[in-house]
Amino acid sequence: MLIDGQWVNSQSGEVIHSIDPATEEPFATFAAGTAKDVDAAVRAARRAFPAWSAMSVQGRGDILQRVAASIRAQALELSELETRDMGKPIHDSTTFDLPDAVGAFEFFATVAGDIRGETIPVGSGIHDFTLRSPAGVIGQITAWNFPLVNAAWKIAPALAMGNTVVFKPSELASLTSLELGRVCEQAGMPAGVLNIITGCGTSAGAALASHPGIDRISFTGSTRTGRAVFQAGASNLVPATLELGGKSPNIVFEDADLEQAVAGALLGIFFNAGQVCTAGSRLLLHRSIYRQFLDRFMERTCRIPIGPGLEPATRLGPLVSKGQRERVQRYIQSGVEEGAHILSTGTVPEGKGFFVPPTVFDEVNPRMRIAREEIFGPVLCVFAFDAEEEAVALANDTEYGLAAGIWTRDLARAHRMAQRLEAGTVWINAYNFVVPQMPAPARKGSGIGVELGRQGLEEYTLLKNIVVNLEREGLDYFAGPVS
Ligand code: NAD
Repeated sequence: MLIDGQWVNSQSGEVIHSIDPATEEPFATFAAGTAKDVDAAVRAARRAFPAWSAMSVQGRGDILQRVAASIRAQALELSELETRDMGKPIHDSTTFDLPDAVGAFEFFATVAGDIRGETIPVGSGIHDFTLRSPAGVIGQITAWNFPLVNAAWKIAPALAMGNTVVFKPSELASLTSLELGRVCEQAGMPAGVLNIITGCGTSAGAALASHPGIDRISFTGSTRTGRAVFQAGASNLVPATLELGGKSPNIVFEDADLEQAVAGALLGIFFNAGQVCTAGSRLLLHRSIYRQFLDRFMERTCRIPIGPGLEPATRLGPLVSKGQRERVQRYIQSGVEEGAHILSTGTVPEGKGFFVPPTVFDEVNPRMRIAREEIFGPVLCVFAFDAEEEAVALANDTEYGLAAGIWTRDLARAHRMAQRLEAGTVWINAYNFVVPQMPAPARKGSGIGVELGRQGLEEYTLLKNIVVNLEREGLDYFAGPVS
């Protein structure tokens, strides 16, 4: 782990093994951090805060730009490590994860200087203005589905705004986060500015979320854990940004460009083997195109190359862990038991690997568990609708509110729908398009606050209002009555 500029083992001496999801073999070992390690990291971050927050925005930006350049220079090694650790296709690691991580560091390095206060006109004699200052020491905890990208999305904006960080990646995929620590060190980041604690959620994660020395928490993970993290921070009145689960609707109208919509629906549910918070796991099809659409969708689904992530042709790799595969298989079983109909699916490679084939449930009843709960795997539920009103009701009938997709050529309908869908992000004739420049807000059970974009940067600041009396008359309240 990286604490105060030193690479250290856990004070407990305990370790966790990284398992390659394609071979089921352990291939690396890292520290299992505990509350004591978290405490040391928080103290280091606190010590580093005054100097880092006082550094010029340009000075911090220069360091973050060097981090971006260094990630780019090591992109191949980092992509391979990401794929071995998490299972995702190397095609995705090289074309999506690594460029996106670079992009996040570059974007936040440059945009931090644009986050500023404002002057507020309140009448003559008073000059009122606001300042935005760094929030302090930030505790950050992430999931395993986009390990390096999620790390970059949290670490880059927090550091750019002058905060110091204690970061904990998921115990299921920690290796590229540790490498990111090394990259930051090489880029000249002072000791203690970024601390990386590896370990389990119930020990290191819980210790970080409840630590009284942090000023803000930013969490990405399941809704269940998000609640626990929020409660842990609440006892210290620590505000939280929570990016949680989803059960997002992807809605196709009869006038959509069907080839484009089929491609979007495939990307929506099978990208990263469905291990995506915004996965379009509920496909809502207008009844008039239902069969035609599904036939084409299944034809393309059956052609998806499934295999170990390190094979260049693979587009659907194994799931991250044995536990995740079992969880997804249990959901598939529950769908069958509740009477949903499985359309024929692809086959997975024989032998080792946590593979689950793409699975499509037809004739799904919206009350079934597979229709309501986040599965986080390559499992799609398909529904039919007749009218726009019905599509809105079906789409919003969920505890989640992360994202939604609409496919139509009718501009007015697209905008009407976008306004009525209860989701932080709505894609029109697109799906899963995310870049660091765009805010990713969450609603309902999908979280609190905003990640990414300028709005995400503001989450890492404190607002202060400053009132200057120039020559305002009437402020001497006790001037009148004299007893
Ligand atoms: P998870 O909630 O099990 O774990 C997330 C992180 O929390 C891990 O680092 C884990 O170690 C830690 N953790 C576990 N228990 C903890 C506790 N009691 N206190 C503090 N930390 C604890 O989630 P996961 O299985 O790693 O990831 C999948 C989930 O993440 C899905 O629900 C997915 O939708 C969500 N996710 C959301 C977004 C988003 O931007 N909204 C992005 C990626 C993933």
